[in-house]
Amino acid sequence: LSQSGHDKSLLVQLTPYGVGQFLIVTRDVTQIEKMETTRKDFVANVSHELRTPLTVLTGFLETLHDMPQASISDEQRSHYQTLMLDQAQRMQAIVNDLLTLSTLESSPTVEGEPVRVSALIHNALKQVEMLSHDQHIFVQNIAEDLGIVGIESELASAISNLLTNALRYTPKDGTITVSWYTTETGQACYSVQDTGIGIASQDIPRLTERFYRVDRGRSRATGGTGLGLAITKHVAMRHGAELSIHSRLGAGSLFTLHFPAARVVTIKEDRNQAPP
Ligand code: ADP
Repeated sequence: LSQSGHDKSLLVQLTPYGVGQFLIVTRDVTQIEKMETTRKDFVANVSHELRTPLTVLTGFLETLHDMPQASISDEQRSHYQTLMLDQAQRMQAIVNDLLTLSTLESSPTVEGEPVRVSALIHNALKQVEMLSHDQHIFVQNIAEDLGIVGIESELASAISNLLTNALRYTPKDGTITVSWYTTETGQACYSVQDTGIGIASQDIPRLTERFYRVDRGRSRATGGTGLGLAITKHVAMRHGAELSIHSRLGAGSLFTLHFPAARVVTIKEDRNQAPP
């Protein structure tokens, strides 16, 4: 017997209990059902995301295979090869991000060691230079000696994900402001503010779901896998941090990672060296 309520799903079992008597056992299976739905959606999403580049790739390979060697110019062949490489790299990016996510999900918290976050921010800024198409990037309040106890590679990927997104979703001549500072309560915050396309309020709570994109076409065109914010949220959780998102459609967005005071350290000259 199963009975579904508005937001509750109860499994009701009648068990014989003595002569002419039954014991009624009810179990709330809402959580189990939710997990099962999430799992099914995830498998469907992964299959869909990989199928698209795979179909394009197969199409090009078949075309090349079926064409008589002489009928295709070197230029055409090279063009096809570039398009195929794009699709293969797209699949590679999706698989890499999925593997990263599954590693992050394996444990809810991490210890790590003191990491100089400012160095990671400067690195990320250098790396995203080539993505920039005339947006203005301002680096504000970077607290050079402010560190976090954590895993350097994870923090680096969260830092660069937010920066990459700001560049992806901010048109030419827009402004991006990056900051790394402490608050009065001793938290450390990394924030990336942009004057880009912004996000409608109903989309904001879903942004950190795997493969959730407001505009699928736009995200794909800019090379996004749809997993960046899911990864960032997991990195935040493992470091006891929170990811806050404020945005207004057409006006821009502010993404902030708030690290708890307990993770904050001061790092002197020597890199990765905590104060005594
Ligand atoms: P993607 O690879 O698609 O960028 P993310 O997980 O990083 O995946 O982001 C999920 C979605 O959130 C994006 O597809 C985009 O719709 C939206 N988004 C993320 N960052 C921004 C931003 N700075 N401005 C506007 N939209 C954003």
